Amino acid sequence: MTIEARKIRLLMQLRRAGITDTAVLSAMESIPRELFTPPAFQDQAYELMALPIGRGQTLSAPDVVAMMTQALECKGRETVLEIGTGSGYQAAILSRVCRRVYTIERHRPLLEEAEERFKQLRLHNITTYCGDGSKGWPEPRSFPRIIVTCAAVFPPEPLLEQLAEDGIMVLPVGGQGRTQDLVKLRKTASGVEQESLAAVRFVPLVAGEANGEGSGEGRESG
Ligand code: SAH
Repeated sequence: MTIEARKIRLLMQLRRAGITDTAVLSAMESIPRELFTPPAFQDQAYELMALPIGRGQTLSAPDVVAMMTQALECKGRETVLEIGTGSGYQAAILSRVCRRVYTIERHRPLLEEAEERFKQLRLHNITTYCGDGSKGWPEPRSFPRIIVTCAAVFPPEPLLEQLAEDGIMVLPVGGQGRTQDLVKLRKTASGVEQESLAAVRFVPLVAGEANGEGSGEGRESG
């Protein structure tokens, strides 16, 4: 099967799985997922499965990426903060459905590979930072949308603080080595509303020092 045929099959599977947001579907169509997987896994790039990306980390399955992106309800003008850049695939999808993406990764080498891919695809609206994303963006800022792609037992407090009022945060909540709950939080004037979307399995959010030399700097991709 050609890559094109696999991609069409994936898009049909996503529709069947309830992905109806056309901006999300067209982002999934236009971003080449095979560019974000190690060469040995390129044949599986359009399968409904998570793939290893090195350093014990994984690129989420495409249906999970699509579901999380759709849950953010982006209309094209939002600024999104992502915690856990990994391969950069989720950030690349987001860059097509919102105005600007800020993304934080604690593994410097993974972040550098992701930055290369953003350059190659000419995605100029992604700003990267190497550090501990559980502390939020390093400058005081408020984000209308936040997505976390690693699991924490509780939503990190600094992220709740950086979420704008009426903002939406999507994140896996739960401990390591067990199924987690994919949760959608909405910050309202009277508190935080919570909705459960699915059972998922993500690598853990690791708080503390970033891993890699010269960490703690931001970089603009455009
Ligand atoms: N969104 C990614 C999925 C990456 S897996 C993709 O599309 O490929 C989760 C990532 O979260 C891993 O790369 C891991 O290193 C990173 N991570 C874990 N804890 C973190 C933290 N405290 N701050 C930033 N990144 C973190």
